[in-house]
Amino acid sequence: MIGRKSRGEIETMREAGRITARVLRELGEIVAPSVTTAELDELAQEIVSEEGAAAAFKGYRGFPASICASANSEVVHGIPGSRRLVEGDIISIDFGVVLDGYYGDSARTFAVGRISDEAAHLLDTTRDSLEAGISKCVPGMRLYDISHAVQTVVEPEGFSVVREYVGHGIGSEMHEEPQIPNFGPAGKGPTLKQGMVFAIEPMVNMGEAAVRALDDGWTVVTMDGSLSAHFEHTVAVTDEGPLVLTVER
Ligand code: MG
Ligand code: MG
Repeated sequence: MIGRKSRGEIETMREAGRITARVLRELGEIVAPSVTTAELDELAQEIVSEEGAAAAFKGYRGFPASICASANSEVVHGIPGSRRLVEGDIISIDFGVVLDGYYGDSARTFAVGRISDEAAHLLDTTRDSLEAGISKCVPGMRLYDISHAVQTVVEPEGFSVVREYVGHGIGSEMHEEPQIPNFGPAGKGPTLKQGMVFAIEPMVNMGEAAVRALDDGWTVVTMDGSLSAHFEHTVAVTDEGPLVLTVER
């Protein structure tokens, strides 16, 4: 059963989403060679506190930080620390906010200085696949229309979508029903309705789709060591069309 949010709940989530977007923008502005991922985490915590909200990931199932910071072949759930970014790296930052009991969840992959053309193409393709998924968040479409739209943008470029980690419903919990794979058959799954809110989050590998978790119990990396990118937005299905909540207005 997919929950549906009231207009009022969506407004609260929009505010959580605005704060999420502000944090990601400000982190993007300081991403540069020699910055540590711990410094990014500190800035995120500062901003979210100043906004009177809370970082959703801190303490979630024991996660030790406010952001997930995943560099290069790291896919998701990287733990910030003393690692210094290097020119040519890509760094995926996933961040969530809880405000008045409602969640926002968003991710972006940033270039550190100048990156290779192939890496830039991976970032562009992953961002485009998210936009394609978002465009299906319209009443009457089916859930896997989102999944199929993402997959259809990614695979012709020779990249692959991660299978083990997927998007999700979101609201008064960070992870609600349904799961939203980044692959699947168009025209299948539950029918989308006004008030459903989804976190759509393609994770795209330059090489093979397979991933594995590191011994820290969190960090997920590509099995083949290839680069991976991650873009995510929280999106409401509305009668007026897709409403992206994790943006600054
Ligand atoms: Mg996220
Ligand atoms: Mg998410």
